[in-house]
Amino acid sequence: MSHHRAHTILGLTEKGCVMAMNRIQFQPGMSLFEFFRQFGTEAQCGAVLEQGRWPQGFRCPRCGGAAHCVLRGRARKTFQCNACHHQTSLIAGTLFEGTKLGLRVWFLAIYLISQAKTGLSALALKRDLGVSYPTAWLIQHKLMQAMVEREDGYLLCGTVQVDDAYLGGELNDGTAGRGSENKVPFVAAVSLDADGHPLRAKFAQLPGFTRKAIAEWASAALSPESTVLSDGLACFAGVTDAGCAHQPTVVGGRKPKELPMFHWVNTVLGNVKTSLSGAYHAFGFSKYAERYLGAITYRFNRRFDLHALPNRLLVAALATGPRPERWIRVAETHC
Ligand SMILES: [Zn+2]
Repeated sequence: MSHHRAHTILGLTEKGCVMAMNRIQFQPGMSLFEFFRQFGTEAQCGAVLEQGRWPQGFRCPRCGGAAHCVLRGRARKTFQCNACHHQTSLIAGTLFEGTKLGLRVWFLAIYLISQAKTGLSALALKRDLGVSYPTAWLIQHKLMQAMVEREDGYLLCGTVQVDDAYLGGELNDGTAGRGSENKVPFVAAVSLDADGHPLRAKFAQLPGFTRKAIAEWASAALSPESTVLSDGLACFAGVTDAGCAHQPTVVGGRKPKELPMFHWVNTVLGNVKTSLSGAYHAFGFSKYAERYLGAITYRFNRRFDLHALPNRLLVAALATGPRPERWIRVAETHC
């Protein structure tokens, strides 16, 4: 369906696959003017946040009561429940809990991150928001975390093409490293429609290309009814341990990317590497690769609706609970 629509829009009848991808570039994004019209003041951002949290009006998070009063003289709008007297600030219980930054800063960060074509570095965010580098880094990682948690709710299903790849592996001076502790093994998976065009993708860091690692990844990322196509790398048989069917293509002498069925996963892999190329040199890239990949996944899976992306990321941030700096950085010791 989607590629027929692309044909109509662009008036082209050939190279349907390429056109389906290019259609994304023809979408109007939200202009900076439009953004500042809607989210230019603290009051506007606060109203949007309140509407997003309580579309039917305030509800006490403790007792569910609707009757409340608003306390004056607080830094953040604070509600007090008439029934149980529980107090809730506008940002309590969301990703923004505890922040000292204005909501305008967060909203602009959400806008910039969701509109940037190939991801946005913490350095660019620091410059654009006028905040310190550690603050920009934390904003970026909190928002990426919200994307990761949103994506975790989706499983790929149907026909799924998988491939193995590495990210990074270069030293800070740009030369290839020998030990390359920054080199990250990851799996790319793309679900395909009946015409063989990509629907959704998942990119995930793996501890290594072993059958056990693939089995664990597949049980978290794929619906058990999926049929997985791979190039026959032994570890991919691990998807059957997660209940999926496996159709390996034994590649005799040819590189998988030369085979038509590997076209999409390779195209998508190329996009991932381009998007992350600026991030490889970031301090601790390998420690946070899961988050960078999650952000890429989130964006890829919403590529046909870029205009709505800022709003959707805001909704994701509201749905994600508090993720304090300590928690965001604790990941360092686990990965
Ligand atoms: Zn209450």
